[in-house]
Amino acid sequence: MAASETYDVVVIGHGAAGLSAAVTYVEACRAEGRTPSIAVLEASPEDERGGATRWTTARFRALEDLTLDPFFVGRMQELSGGLADVDYCRRLEAEVPKSLAFLQDHGVELVHYGPPVAMRVTHEVTPNGGGASIVEHLHAALVADGAADIHYQTAAERLVVGDDGAIAGVVVRGPDGRTREIAAAAVVLACGGFEGNREMLTRYAGPNAVDLPLLAPGLKHNQGAGIRMAMAVGAATSGQFDMLHTELVDIRTDRADAVIYAHPYGIVVNGDGERFWDEGQGTFEDTFEQIAFEVYKHQGQQAYFIADQTITSYPGLMVLFDTDQPAIEASSIAELAMLLGLDPEALEQTVADYNAAVQPGEFDPNVLDGKCTEGLSPDKTNWAYPLQNPPYFAYPLKAAICFTYGGLRTDADARVLAENGAPIPGLYAAGEIVGVFYHAYPAGTSVLRSLSFGRVAGSHIAAGG
Ligand SMILES: Cc1cc2nc3c(=O)[nH]c(=O)nc-3n(C[C@H](O)[C@H](O)[C@H](O)COP(=O)(O)OP(=O)(O)OC[C@H]3O[C@@H](n4cnc5c(N)ncnc54)[C@H](O)[C@@H]3O)c2cc1C
Repeated sequence: MAASETYDVVVIGHGAAGLSAAVTYVEACRAEGRTPSIAVLEASPEDERGGATRWTTARFRALEDLTLDPFFVGRMQELSGGLADVDYCRRLEAEVPKSLAFLQDHGVELVHYGPPVAMRVTHEVTPNGGGASIVEHLHAALVADGAADIHYQTAAERLVVGDDGAIAGVVVRGPDGRTREIAAAAVVLACGGFEGNREMLTRYAGPNAVDLPLLAPGLKHNQGAGIRMAMAVGAATSGQFDMLHTELVDIRTDRADAVIYAHPYGIVVNGDGERFWDEGQGTFEDTFEQIAFEVYKHQGQQAYFIADQTITSYPGLMVLFDTDQPAIEASSIAELAMLLGLDPEALEQTVADYNAAVQPGEFDPNVLDGKCTEGLSPDKTNWAYPLQNPPYFAYPLKAAICFTYGGLRTDADARVLAENGAPIPGLYAAGEIVGVFYHAYPAGTSVLRSLSFGRVAGSHIAAGG
């Protein structure tokens, strides 16, 4: 197929990673008096552009001085059991202050917020307007420069490589269903993971992926095409392919990101009205992913958060209920069970057993208070207070998918590595498409890594690749 268009660079994806790469490349060219030659391909229609980035609040695991949480690298090593790519993590650490300055330079206002719960010390920075503000400000910078061609409803399908294995372009499918080839010596894969692709989810993460709703509609275009294209030309993979970042959401709403993070401060029961997990084993930001994955994998996507008025006297905790639906309230546990469609006797028994097992001590949501249960299976390690202060309230929950862990292997310069460890000439990847997480995700680092390695890719290409 002869190329219909030719650019120096093609960026695939119009989210945080792709826009950071494109804007950085364009500005670096201009700084050297060169005219940028770049196309940005986006699978979605124009009004849906932005992928996951458009829908995220974009909480950053950054401190007030705009540096990455200093414990991040160690935490990655610990959570991954030594599998994490330390060079990647250290490069991220070095890039985060520059990435946040980059956002500010392009009009994104960063706000510092006091943690809603005192323990939440690692997410202190967020863009005013969330990820949508990132998408719109970086997009505006690209449009203002004028050099980049942005092709919407244009999905990259296949990489073109020369006889020596170097990147030569990409085959895309446009809105008319036809394919065409775009020639380019450098391609940046910034087109997310495979959370929108049920076939790949089933292949890698196992049965029942069809039961996983998307946390936000922008994820539907992330079909894993970038991962498949790169693997087809010999790219190596990394990250845990059978692990997904999921979160518990209110089942009663279609609103995006209707998350309920309050599990440490009550109990969570399954469809049998039984507890199944130690809700108080860690802070909500350290455990929200794991309990959701358990609900998806082993509880048939059915769970109910239950609490009493004890926690409503801590107004800061109410931000942990981010749904547009009111709590389901009742004056007794049996009545609450009936409203939830649970067996009243089973839920009464669960609550009675739980209340009887609560140990003395002061409930304090701001610290790991050690107020636990004894004799249950499973016990609750912290924040165990007896449910005896009606009205009782509940939220029906299921897990929704946010992103996939498995992806491409890159070096710290965002170059995609072949299976022999050598960079594939001209091929870069940034953002969620890069596999770095194993076992658990240190929250608040996804957008940061998208911005950071997008910038790294853009400047590496501008510097000659
Ligand atoms: C509701 C929600 C809340 C979140 N909260 C946080 C948070 O607080 N903090 C945090 O750090 N992270 C958070 N995340 C995760 C974070 O938003 C993402 O990991 C990050 O934005 C990914 O950026 P990206 O540029 O790699 O991918 P995306 O932003 O998803 O962009 C990928 C783009 O590629 C396009 N695309 C896909 N396939 C193709 C193709 N074949 N051809 C052309 N284009 C294609 C897609 O349409 C999309 O626009 C959240 C995510 C969601 C959904």
